[in-house]
Amino acid sequence: MFEVQGMSTLKANYISEDDGLPFSKIFDHGTCYTYDDIILHPGYIDFPADKVNLSTMLSRNLSLQTPVVSSPMDTITEADMAIAMATVGGAGFIHNNMTVEEQVNCVLKVKMHRPGFVVTPAVLSPSSTLQDIDLLKQRSGFSSVCVCENGKLGGKLLGLVTTRDSELISNRTTELSAVMTPISDLITAASNKSELEMEELLLTSKKGKLPILNDQGELVGLLTRELMKQRLKNPSPGSPSLDTEGKLICGASIGTRENDRIRARALADSGVDVIILDSSQGDSVYQLEMIDYLKKNIPKVDIIAGNVVTQRQALHLLQVGADGLRVGMGSGSICTTQEVCAVGRGQATAVYKVAKLADQFGIPIIADGGIQNSGHVVKALSLGASVAMCGSVLAGTLEAPGEYFYQDGIRVKKYRGMGSLDAMKRGSDGRYLSESKHLKIAQGVSGTVRDKGSVLKLIPYIMHGVKQGFQDFGARDMINAKVQRENGTLRAEVRSGAAQNEGGIHDMHSYSKVLW
Ligand code: NAD
Ligand code: IMP
Repeated sequence: MFEVQGMSTLKANYISEDDGLPFSKIFDHGTCYTYDDIILHPGYIDFPADKVNLSTMLSRNLSLQTPVVSSPMDTITEADMAIAMATVGGAGFIHNNMTVEEQVNCVLKVKMHRPGFVVTPAVLSPSSTLQDIDLLKQRSGFSSVCVCENGKLGGKLLGLVTTRDSELISNRTTELSAVMTPISDLITAASNKSELEMEELLLTSKKGKLPILNDQGELVGLLTRELMKQRLKNPSPGSPSLDTEGKLICGASIGTRENDRIRARALADSGVDVIILDSSQGDSVYQLEMIDYLKKNIPKVDIIAGNVVTQRQALHLLQVGADGLRVGMGSGSICTTQEVCAVGRGQATAVYKVAKLADQFGIPIIADGGIQNSGHVVKALSLGASVAMCGSVLAGTLEAPGEYFYQDGIRVKKYRGMGSLDAMKRGSDGRYLSESKHLKIAQGVSGTVRDKGSVLKLIPYIMHGVKQGFQDFGARDMINAKVQRENGTLRAEVRSGAAQNEGGIHDMHSYSKVLW
């Protein structure tokens, strides 16, 4: 490796101490900052970006290869999102704005999913019609369906309907049993085959789709030629997040009411790996009591408490045994908390301050809310977060719950705050009604976000941006970023309003922002 001779003497002689500041100096004078307020200084590069290792801790006992998780919101994380996030090395937290049974079913679906590039297929029953496929295509983009005896994944496979089987049939009330390619004419793969063997079978069979069956003939997944092509074109999704049995890691959220204890038990029984106590203000007697109960009754599941934004709040939760902290109040894209309640903190300051405390307990923190791009993830991690939690970044993806629709000619999906009136109507009323029996005060909004395609493509690209950021400020991994943060080698500055404008696109007559 090339070394600059006498570098330290040169530094001592020529470089002034105030050429950028360590974080400790930036965050020590009573102004709170958010990600856009600060800018990191470049460091010295002696390694390529793709050698940056972003593996990290999600909670006391759980590690991830990719430091991103999806938020427990009802327009962000159900089973499909949790599967996709774990597939790319992160994790998803199934929201709790649904019945215990529905939430448990989501966890079971994630746990049943075969890790790798096999997808969870669309499944209908033999008596479903071509109209059902049309509807499915409109809602989720699927144009091929597997036909199972019970109409569900895990049922006995009877056949497959692809576009070729269905597109030229004008009578859309025709049942699928009449048009499907029956199982006797399908090439299928046994689920105990390796991915490589399955890929080989798909290639040699010259088929577009390869249903994967267990030894009972039940459908467990689908391998598609389209996905294989995508995989070759796109950056590798990296290693999936797996539990000790080789199943995808799955998180879920609960509240802090009495009946959430039953929810927690049911989630633990379904194999959930980590539970988030979902609240905007985690420093409450309700949360302390819940942590105490969970630690005593389901000690195998890690508990992430929050949300917090100050060291005082964090200390209470750490003292009762929280295995992780979720940091952010009022920073979310759909959030009106700071406006309605006048409480919260600039997210960069919150992350830096809470991480500093949590580090003394060896507990990782999640930077939650306000992440808009890969640069914000770089900042969150360099400030001390182990993981970034995303809502809006993942909204509008294929895997987010809900259907696409058109608004002003743009294909969009709904995205809403869990404290919006809209979300409260769906089921979270219970948490608000105790304190104000008739008044509902929203702390979030409901809106739409553009179609962003699949998480399987989005996250690897975002993560590559993050790796380039780490390379630029000179950290090979999270440990080195921590060392640099603590010894002050990592320098940063607060940006003036004009500097922020300069750092964005400016002085263009027109442009298109294509990121990959
Ligand atoms: P919450 O369930 O923590 O609190 C709702 C109300 O119920 C609060 O008044 C709380 O004090 C009360 N409460 C909680 N447990 C109780 C118990 N056992 N007994 C009596 N009262 C109890 O939910 P929230 O803070 O309103 O958040 C709702 C949703 O909105 C969550 O998904 C949260 O993540 C999201 N949100 C997040 C932020 C943020 O800035 N991160 C802000 C607002 C809302
Ligand atoms: P985003 O990634 O900026 O969109 O923020 C997502 C985060 O906002 C979530 O993980 C929650 O912490 C927070 N959040 C969710 N719902 C609400 C709400 O209704 N009001 C305020 N914050 C919310």
